[in-house]
Amino acid sequence: MNVPEGYKYCSDCRELKPLDEFHNDSKHSQGKDRRCKDCAKLHFQKRMSDPEKHKANLEKQAEWRAKNPDKTSHSWIMKKYGSYAAYKQYLNTKLS
Ligand SMILES: [Zn+2]
Repeated sequence: MNVPEGYKYCSDCRELKPLDEFHNDSKHSQGKDRRCKDCAKLHFQKRMSDPEKHKANLEKQAEWRAKNPDKTSHSWIMKKYGSYAAYKQYLNTKLS
């Protein structure tokens, strides 16, 4: 595929767009996201508007924290919830 310099194909809408239309992302080639800004926005909105996925994500996080209690950064939890137990309780109410 012949891509002019300074341009990139969006992996979602398949449109050739200037690099300015892509968010910076050092993980990807050319230091740019593989989706254009428009598609990234749509993708984000879609993901957040799906409560099932949002819940699944929360569950995954809770599971990971339960398995890796040592790796959890407690300082912000203490600040926000007072104790790890209180934080867990908060998570449970979110998940139930
Ligand atoms: Zn796009």
